[in-house]
Amino acid sequence: MLAKLSDLIRALEDDEIVPYFQPIVDLRSGALRGYEVLARWMHPHDGLILPMNFIGVAEDNGLIGELTNQVLRKAFKETRELGLTPRLAVNISPRQMRYTSLPLQIRNSAEEQGFPLDKLTIEITESALIGNIEQATQIANALKDLGCRLSLDDFGTGYSSLAHLQALPFDQLKIDRSFVASIATRRESRKIVAAILGLGHSLDLVNLAEGVEEDAQAEILLRLGCELAQGWRYGKPMPSQAMPHAEAAEPHSVALGSLHGHSGS
Ligand code: C2E
Ligand code: MG
Ligand code: MG
Ligand code: MG
Repeated sequence: MLAKLSDLIRALEDDEIVPYFQPIVDLRSGALRGYEVLARWMHPHDGLILPMNFIGVAEDNGLIGELTNQVLRKAFKETRELGLTPRLAVNISPRQMRYTSLPLQIRNSAEEQGFPLDKLTIEITESALIGNIEQATQIANALKDLGCRLSLDDFGTGYSSLAHLQALPFDQLKIDRSFVASIATRRESRKIVAAILGLGHSLDLVNLAEGVEEDAQAEILLRLGCELAQGWRYGKPMPSQAMPHAEAAEPHSVALGSLHGHSGS
C-alpha cells in the first residue's frame, strides 16, 4: 500500500527509515565482498514497509534527498559502531542524478561518519540517464573523483542503451533479477546473460548477478564467468545487528557459511 505523504514526513522526522544490508559475494569462493544498503521503514503500527511503497512518494514530493541522506548516514554509523568497514553499495534515485550537489552531500555524510569514500559504490539505474546524459555524466565524474565506484543497476530492463555504458565511467554492471530468475529454465535467458557478461567483460566491468535464489542459477552464472552475486541464496537484507561480526575482511567468508543455511527462508 502506498505511503501517505504526511506519514512519510513524520517517519523521516522520527527516524523510522533505516538501512538493511544484503550480502554481495564472490561467486567462485562465496567470500563476502560487501553489502547493498536497502531502505526499510519500521512503521510503529504497520511493521516493516518495503521501498516500493515509499520511495516513489519520496521522489514525487522532494523528500528523496533527505531520505537518501538519512539511510546513508545510518548505514555508515551502524557499521562503524560494529567495528566493520565493509564495501557498501547505495541506491541513488534517478531524480537525484539531476542535482550537482549530490557528490558533496555524499562526501559530507561519509566524512561526518568516518566512512572511507573508496569503500562506497553508487548504484544508478539507466532511467537516471534518460534525457539527462550531460548532467549525469558530470555528477558521475564528480563521484568518481571522490573515489566512489559506479554501478549500473537493473541492467537489461527498460531503457537499456549501450550509449550509457559508453558515456559514463561505470565500474560494475548489475544484471537484473528478471534474467537470473529464468536462467536455469530458459535457454533465451541464459543466452542473454551470456551476452551481457561478454559485454561487461569487454568493457572491463565487474559483473554482478541480482536475485540469485537457487544453486542451479549460481552454477550457471559461475560457468558463464560472472564474478559477483547477490540474492536469497547468500542472504536476505538484514539489519546491521544481524551482520556477521568477524573482524577483518577475509574471515567473513567463514561467517557467511551460516548465512547459506538460512537461504530460502
Ligand atoms: P534494487 O536496487 O534492484 O535492489 C534489489 C532488490 O531485490 C531489493 O528489493 C532486494 O531485497 C531484492 N532481492 C535481493 N535478492 C533477491 C532474491 O534473491 N530474490 C528476490 N525475489 N528479491 C531479491 P527491495 O529492498 O524491496 O528494494 C527495491 C528497490 O527499491 C531497489 O531495487 C531500489 O531500486 C529501491 N531502493 C531500495 N532502497 C533504496 C534507497 O535507499 N534509495 C533509493 N533511491 N532507492 C532504494
Ligand atoms: Mg540496487
Ligand atoms: Mg538492482
Ligand atoms: Mg532490481
